[in-house]
Amino acid sequence: MPPTAISDDLPLVAGRTCGSCNVCCVALTIDDPELQKAQGYRCRHAQRDNSCGIYATRPDTCRTFHCGWRRLKWVRENLRPDTSGVLVQLQGEISPTDGTRRLGVSFTLLTKSALKAEGLAESVAAAVAADVPVFLTIPGPPGYTSAQARVNAELADAVARKDKPGLLRILRELHAVGRAGPRKPVVLPARADGGR
Ligand code: SF4
Ligand code: SF4
Repeated sequence: MPPTAISDDLPLVAGRTCGSCNVCCVALTIDDPELQKAQGYRCRHAQRDNSCGIYATRPDTCRTFHCGWRRLKWVRENLRPDTSGVLVQLQGEISPTDGTRRLGVSFTLLTKSALKAEGLAESVAAAVAADVPVFLTIPGPPGYTSAQARVNAELADAVARKDKPGLLRILRELHAVGRAGPRKPVVLPARADGGR
């Protein structure tokens, strides 16, 4: 399935399972009536073996979430989040001209070594070449917001030239800018039950 065929209801990629990964239980901000947590903090229900202690009754947010590695076949096999340090997610974009929504892809670099992940450059290039909106996301410290930028324009020439070293150099530069960017504490809306 090509990058242009992104939709909210994509089937999961056959043969890819979460295994011992629980990156989404740590990296994501969750704001669900049954669970609130800020990004970067491990969910209190995560077990030592990374399984979910409330799996049968986990919140809908967890039940329905699958990362881009699970949903997009063109995202390279090697990019499982726990082994690569790269968390791929579908991300909507609203057109500033006509207000229409389209789906793009966010690549969150969870660690500095994520820049060296095998398959990162190829996956990013596939999305840019297909004119899918591509976002580079650099997390802040636990409890703080991420820096994020749309990077299609910056990467277009390197992708057109099939210049992998050039693409990675630009990603490294954008990563450095993102790491130095301002952060704000993640603020979750107050809930009557306190997010339980
Ligand atoms: S980040 Fe992706 S592979 Fe890892 S546990 Fe979540 S859905 Fe599964
Ligand atoms: S409730 Fe379970 S699935 Fe949801 S974030 Fe916590 S550990 Fe992960």
